Amino acid sequence: MTDATGNTKRYLFPTAFTVNGWHDDVLIECTNGIISEVIADFAPQPNDSVEQIRGIAIPGIPNVHSHAFQRRLAGLSEFRTGTHDSFWTWRQLMYDMATRWSPEDIYEIARGLYSELIANGYTWVGEFHYLHNDFDGSPYADITTMSDAVIRAAQDAGIGICILPVLYQRSGFVPGDLDPAQKRFVLDEEVFLRLLDQLRASWGTTDNVKIGMAFHSLRAVDISTIASVTSTARKLYPAIPIHIHVAEQLNEVNECQSLFGLRPVEYLYEHVEVDGRWCLVHATHVNSSEITKVAESGAIVGLCPTTEANLGDGIFPAEEFIEAGGSFAIGSDSQVCTNPRSELRLLEYAQRLTTNRRAVLGNQSQSVGRALYPAACQHGAQALGLNAGTLEIGKRADIVVLGNEHYAIQNAKGDRIFDRYLFCDSGNPVERLMLDGSWTELGGHRQ
Ligand SMILES: [Zn+2]
Repeated sequence: MTDATGNTKRYLFPTAFTVNGWHDDVLIECTNGIISEVIADFAPQPNDSVEQIRGIAIPGIPNVHSHAFQRRLAGLSEFRTGTHDSFWTWRQLMYDMATRWSPEDIYEIARGLYSELIANGYTWVGEFHYLHNDFDGSPYADITTMSDAVIRAAQDAGIGICILPVLYQRSGFVPGDLDPAQKRFVLDEEVFLRLLDQLRASWGTTDNVKIGMAFHSLRAVDISTIASVTSTARKLYPAIPIHIHVAEQLNEVNECQSLFGLRPVEYLYEHVEVDGRWCLVHATHVNSSEITKVAESGAIVGLCPTTEANLGDGIFPAEEFIEAGGSFAIGSDSQVCTNPRSELRLLEYAQRLTTNRRAVLGNQSQSVGRALYPAACQHGAQALGLNAGTLEIGKRADIVVLGNEHYAIQNAKGDRIFDRYLFCDSGNPVERLMLDGSWTELGGHRQ
């Protein structure tokens, strides 16, 4: 990544998707990484200091849900381990893998993954990080060792990272013996809050690093602990993003209902004040009243369509949720796919396959690509606590440049650019990527 200069830089794009829609000949000025001017139909004078960019500027898209180490498992669990394979059998393979990695391994895996994410047009990653402890389950002398490894990997790869250290305390709603891998995940509340504090001390003022927090799930943390840790964290860090896996699996829904008489999302909302600083990851199995609750709360739903398909989770009722005013973002989760085009395309295709209709998530005034891509940018930024997601004055200069000579993009105008980007699958049109006003190297991972 090139150094942020702290100076003002001016770029001229032949086409850009700004907060006011598509325009040609768009000047974007960046000062200290923030967009300080946007001028459409700009005609440079001979001595203007403007860098002319060949390509189309669109907002950078955040990846709100990643488990970096699972990249090594992608494609290695595509066989039956019994008569009925499921999320739960996959999880055992994932646990076996989680026991293996040292901090150095995690750095290498994460750096490789993050380079791929950048090359595919993700500007930020929300790393849902629960691999905290040493191999035997004891804490590292420095409790941020594993978190530091993934943050350094992101810094070296050139992607923004919102580290989401995860509180994980038990094996299930009804706690049993911990799997050896789970011992690497478990923290008590005091250590968790200290971890947050130390991460903020080490990284809180570093460019392109944000500190969030997460609860693994309602299974892994008792609801009263979720409520009390949320309350403490909100007093210390009012704006901190909070993420949680919820309602991903029918087993979880059934177990929650039988134990507490409520479905997982109902149960969470009953006990905890959930608002727009929350990201509910998956929320696959929600009924109409839960959809209304989530939409009204302003929480983002973090959808990971390729992982949800791979694990046989189910299909999120996206049409009903969006019609209710709900906000979604996307994530690469288990890393079976590392590009945002496929996530958004599958989000739409799953709706088509279950409704026998087309263009389900578009509307009368917006094509599907136009409806999905900008929304995932804006809500992704919200989910990671970023001042980003649109190209407008005062926002971070996080910009993806699509090659206007790429087959999918050439000759496309206006919203067709988003539609071609998502639905004309002919490789990767991402040509350049700017983070915080500086160009990030795309490295050797371009397709
Ligand atoms: Zn996950």
